Amino acid sequence: MATTPMMQQYEDAKRVCGDAILLFRMGDFYELFFDDAKIAAQKLGLALTSRDKGENPIPMAGFPHHQLDGYLAKLIQAGFRAAVCEQVEDARKAKGLVKREITRVVSPGTLTDDALLNPQEHNYLAAVAFGPKPKSKPEQSGLKVLKVPDIRIGLAWAELSTGTFFAAEFPQDQLPDQLARINPSECLVNEEARDTLTVNQLPGIMLTARPDWSFARDAATTALANQFGTKTLEGMGFSDQDGLAIQAAGAVLEYLRETQKSSLDHIQRLTPYRNSEILEIDEATRRSLEITRTIRDGQRDGSLLSVLDHTVTAMGSRLLNDWVANPLTDIHLIQQRQEAVATLLENDSLRATIQSHLKQIYDMERLLARVSTGRASPRDLSFIGKTLEQLPPLKSSLQNQSSGLLQQLEETLDVCEDLQTLIASALVDDCPLQIREGGIIRPGFHQELDKARELSHGGKQWIASYQALEAEKTGIPNLKIGFNKVFGYYLELTNAHKDKAPDYFIRKQTLKNAERYITPELKEHEEDVLSSNELAQDLEHQVFIELRDSVHEQATRLQNTARVLGHLDVLAALAELAQQRNYCRPTVVVEPVLDILDGKHPVLDVTEPEGTFVPNDTQAGTGEELVLLITGPNMAGKSTYIRQVALITLMAQIGSFVPARKATIGIADRIFARVGASDELSRGQSTFMVEMTETARILNTATQHSLVVLDEIGRGTSTYDGVSLAWAIMEHIHNHIGCRTLFATHYHELTELEGTLSSVKNLNVDVKEWHDNVVFLHKIVSGAANKSYGIHVARLAGVPQEVNHRAQQILAQLESEPRSLSDSEQIELTPKTGKDRNLQLTLFNPVEHPLLDTIRATEVNELTPLQALQLLQSWKDQLNDPAKKPD
Ligand code: ADP
Ligand code: MG
Repeated sequence: MATTPMMQQYEDAKRVCGDAILLFRMGDFYELFFDDAKIAAQKLGLALTSRDKGENPIPMAGFPHHQLDGYLAKLIQAGFRAAVCEQVEDARKAKGLVKREITRVVSPGTLTDDALLNPQEHNYLAAVAFGPKPKSKPEQSGLKVLKVPDIRIGLAWAELSTGTFFAAEFPQDQLPDQLARINPSECLVNEEARDTLTVNQLPGIMLTARPDWSFARDAATTALANQFGTKTLEGMGFSDQDGLAIQAAGAVLEYLRETQKSSLDHIQRLTPYRNSEILEIDEATRRSLEITRTIRDGQRDGSLLSVLDHTVTAMGSRLLNDWVANPLTDIHLIQQRQEAVATLLENDSLRATIQSHLKQIYDMERLLARVSTGRASPRDLSFIGKTLEQLPPLKSSLQNQSSGLLQQLEETLDVCEDLQTLIASALVDDCPLQIREGGIIRPGFHQELDKARELSHGGKQWIASYQALEAEKTGIPNLKIGFNKVFGYYLELTNAHKDKAPDYFIRKQTLKNAERYITPELKEHEEDVLSSNELAQDLEHQVFIELRDSVHEQATRLQNTARVLGHLDVLAALAELAQQRNYCRPTVVVEPVLDILDGKHPVLDVTEPEGTFVPNDTQAGTGEELVLLITGPNMAGKSTYIRQVALITLMAQIGSFVPARKATIGIADRIFARVGASDELSRGQSTFMVEMTETARILNTATQHSLVVLDEIGRGTSTYDGVSLAWAIMEHIHNHIGCRTLFATHYHELTELEGTLSSVKNLNVDVKEWHDNVVFLHKIVSGAANKSYGIHVARLAGVPQEVNHRAQQILAQLESEPRSLSDSEQIELTPKTGKDRNLQLTLFNPVEHPLLDTIRATEVNELTPLQALQLLQSWKDQLNDPAKKPD
């Protein structure tokens, strides 16, 4: 195919941008060609046209240049990467074809534009480096996850839009937990891993395959040392042991270099992430406690985070997100935060002052990132200036506070007075968004610029007076002077007056109702006007770039300041929350105890009607109360109660006050929360398998300092299986782990454990029967529940009366039979009405349908979907016609 030079240029750009969609700048448009155009037509709703309409039409689509942000956002959301190819020289000055270059590649993990980012959320790019494979094959039987030998991975994560950068090493089976904690939008892996990691392991994360060399150890060490201007990474706290972490960090840096093609020097350090200082929360726990998003719709709204968030800045909101995702385990650090929150809670006017200043600041972290990557607009710089203006009074309000943390923040807060003065004197008050438009630099800031502007201004004035002069000379009052790119300045007469044009008017253009002319005098001055204008513009541009560079040079100071602002915001927000909701300051202790007086569920406390949430006490970890077994009818509040204990503990370890009248919280090293399978819709795997895998994790990793919250565990299987499993799990936790545990269950059989295990205590949720109804009091009381009230709940839910009636009959009969776990007797009940279909209601030692054995023997994992369907059909056939044998 014969290609034009421009299409050749396109092909060259396409070759280097890999699998990214190429947005090719042509004049005022971005154009897409070939397959990219087809994708754009489909995903962006652009019209598909074609270039070279001849024999080989090229599919093409495009959009005006000022819509770039919007379309980039759509492409990223649709799961694509996009390369932006710009014209890198002035089209007016270009000889021949305009030079074009890819100026950046945008992917979910490398966004810096405000328009594409959620201010409240981090946007991390992660990379995983895998360690060498073990020689022996991992054991395949049983719970696979646990049998994987100790394979290590390196994990690094960075946020281009703020410059944060972390790395650490983990056992491979922790990968999903860590990714759930970090919540990156894009993850770099080598090609082999991309093909083996399942979507299930990394939900919602774009996997980007990178060549093996980009994970190489030596290259990584060199690249990182260059980035930070250090010889080794030891100063940052890394050692030879951290090879994999370094490899992953190297891959992140390499990818950012390749895609950004700009300075990255706002990324100033690589911080080792130390697991031991952080409360461990695995992915299942995060999900079931709804810490940062809800189970139901995955939204932030309704999560713990959303209730805690009273921050007033984007930086604070993101930092709170960090704190909530990474609660502490160090008692001193927790107390330090508590102290600061207490100060801000007690001192309303201090808090109000801090918040009123914070409300007027901008997102410094993201502004600085744009300065460093060379993308900051004049308005971005002016926002940095306006932020700095708020700092001196903020700093002085923090003086002489007793809280050590507030003192520390006050000392670190660099008000950057020099920069503030510079920006304020350089930039006009209402700075425009674009550099090219001019009108950025304040008069009086730069002498030469002022001079050039005067000249250009004088030129324009001459034009204006020339217009007035000619109008008078010719006697045409509406004679106009206009300007366009083709003719420069011209005189315009409407048709009514064109006969009056004097001889020295040289006609240039005829319009429908006007004529355009030039004169030698006009042309002579035009040159001056235009060149002084251009000079002024160029100079202004240059002055702006210099200003941006000066800010860039101070990036470290500004970054530290931004961090302080985020901290102040979070601390003030926690104080605000404590005041609004009347929280108490928990006493944190090292001993694994819990003593909560009038605790509330932090989210329901807010979402339920004011004053209706019933507070409850909790004691665990001392004496005979270690494992709390909560029974009670459905809807009584069991799940709410056990979650509230976990959430209060977690909040205490963030440094927050807690929803309770009084609380002593022993610091947990890990919190585990599990929900029985039938309570939660599954994610692809057999739900019971998931439930047991997750439970196994607890039994294998919980320590005496952990807090375990189990909700209806064992529900995902038959009653008999379930009770036995739950029983054994409780015994194991009690006898071998000895950690604070809350177990909500509807298996009444388990309440017998109180008699056999020394530290199990039965609790139940109080219910009042009133006439034929039940009233849920949501009050936790000692002892085991004696009834399940399921039938009452069924009635409330609208189950037909006959069914309820019949259920009550059956229940009465069942209750008249003595039974216990070891009972092997069958209870047989035949319905009094309706046709007898040989139905047996059996509770214990049930008679099984032979089909069950077939089902048990079926290896579900080895079936294709089609086979599974066929099998299902054959089972159905068999049930309908028992004589039929399975094929
Ligand atoms: P269970 O697990 O026992 O079936 P849940 O904990 O799911 O019950 O609670 C059911 C509903 O009862 C909750 O959605 C909430 O509306 C209400 N509830 C639970 N605990 C309380 C409480 N302490 N105060 C007020 N309402 C509560
Ligand atoms: Mg429940």
